[in-house]
Amino acid sequence: MTDESSNASGERRRPAGSVRHPAEHSAANEPPPSGQTLAAAQVTGQGLSRRDWLKGGARGVGLLGFGAAAGFLGTRESKAATRWQIDPNQCIQCGRCATACVLEVSAVKCVHSFSMCGYCKLCTGYFEPEPINLDEGAENQLCPTGALQRKFIEDPYYEYSINKDLCVGCGKCVKGCNMFGNGSLYLQVSHDRCVNCNICAIARECPAQAFRQVPVTKPYLLRGKGAAGK
Ligand code: SF4
Ligand code: SF4
Ligand code: SF4
Repeated sequence: MTDESSNASGERRRPAGSVRHPAEHSAANEPPPSGQTLAAAQVTGQGLSRRDWLKGGARGVGLLGFGAAAGFLGTRESKAATRWQIDPNQCIQCGRCATACVLEVSAVKCVHSFSMCGYCKLCTGYFEPEPINLDEGAENQLCPTGALQRKFIEDPYYEYSINKDLCVGCGKCVKGCNMFGNGSLYLQVSHDRCVNCNICAIARECPAQAFRQVPVTKPYLLRGKGAAGK
């Protein structure tokens, strides 16, 4: 038996235990283009212009995009009635989401609730605890892959978004945001990547019992304006 194998959809799997940088992955490991497009609306906040931000009307746009992805997947895969998901209120950002998934690149990604974010200049999810400078230098950033990116809005506000293709689900930014910020960054299983294992390998290792099976019709546990009842 080899260390790596492929599932029916061609997604390469790997044993638990190592985080690999996305640059090491082949194109075959990337999600299908349709999934990428839908999910990208959530994690990158693309299309959120400065004017939109100032009007406030587009906050949470990304979460709606993630919801759209959920709807798409709900119709694409109708057999299983449930999906694995992380309760962001239970997660303690232990780091195992990056290493325990059966996929070569974890199906868990960071997502962002724009409606909860403070658009802080000094973002504790973005910067190392003691940065050399408060700028975009890689040495100042907490994210090991450069997946958490920021855009200047107007002094002193910055907008933070996640490049999903670079995110490995390590949760470092989430921990920083939860410790000193508003908790607007959090982890979710991205259903355009997850193969919905009968028993999720991360759930088995999760020390906080944060994983649970949710209805396929509502496969995300969102914070902020995208959350149920808000
Ligand atoms: S394994 Fe559990 S506690 Fe650890 S980062 Fe994942 S969801 Fe959070
Ligand atoms: S620090 Fe955040 S954005 Fe960067 S890889 Fe880890 S979870 Fe993803
Ligand atoms: S069910 Fe769990 S282990 Fe399987 S692909 Fe999804 S997140 Fe990874």
